Amino acid sequence: MSIDNWIWVPAGIRNNNSIGYRKYKSCPEMLRAERPTATAHQVLLAHGADALIDEQYFFESADDARWFWDSGYEERLYVESEHKSTAYDQMTLWIDNKQVATRGYDRLDRFDTDTDRLPTGELRCDDRYKAVDSYGDVEWARCTHRATLKVRITPARTEIATDESLKVTYTPLPAEAYEAHICASCYEVALQSAGTEGSPAQVEMLGELTASSESEHADL
Ligand SMILES: [Zn+2]
Repeated sequence: MSIDNWIWVPAGIRNNNSIGYRKYKSCPEMLRAERPTATAHQVLLAHGADALIDEQYFFESADDARWFWDSGYEERLYVESEHKSTAYDQMTLWIDNKQVATRGYDRLDRFDTDTDRLPTGELRCDDRYKAVDSYGDVEWARCTHRATLKVRITPARTEIATDESLKVTYTPLPAEAYEAHICASCYEVALQSAGTEGSPAQVEMLGELTASSESEHADL
């Protein structure tokens, strides 16, 4: 995902139609022209079918950001699509620099990789992978499916993986085989990619997770 437009939203826009949105082609350009310190409240709006257009809105006012999240975005979709009815593909809301809500994401939860339990109390899939966030930065993401399988993963012997094009070096996987709890779809992906570059050398099925085996890990 890469941002197409960086949009500055002056305070008060929710109550005043004469205040305009100010569109920029890059984040530095926007920050030079506006207030570089005021970027705590943001909304990502991806739309245009398959998130063809990604727009990052920066709000001076948190109340405006919430209004935009609730209903203000609908008008923007109408404007951007040349007055045809349309819908968002994905949205994310940040207030005070914290992500507080998302819409339209499925298995990807790119902001919370530490929570091991789903809201239902079930064990969460361990699978983590790299994803590009709404700023174009690479972040670790984690699956949000329920873990149903226990597997043993043997990492490839690569010590450090460096991705020059993305300007990141990330921590290597443990050198020794380890057990993980993952969902069926991540297992399929792992099986297909095992042995290829950047993937574990081997993924072995150890069995299905049952309610009792889940509770063994209740203290994790
Ligand atoms: Zn998964």
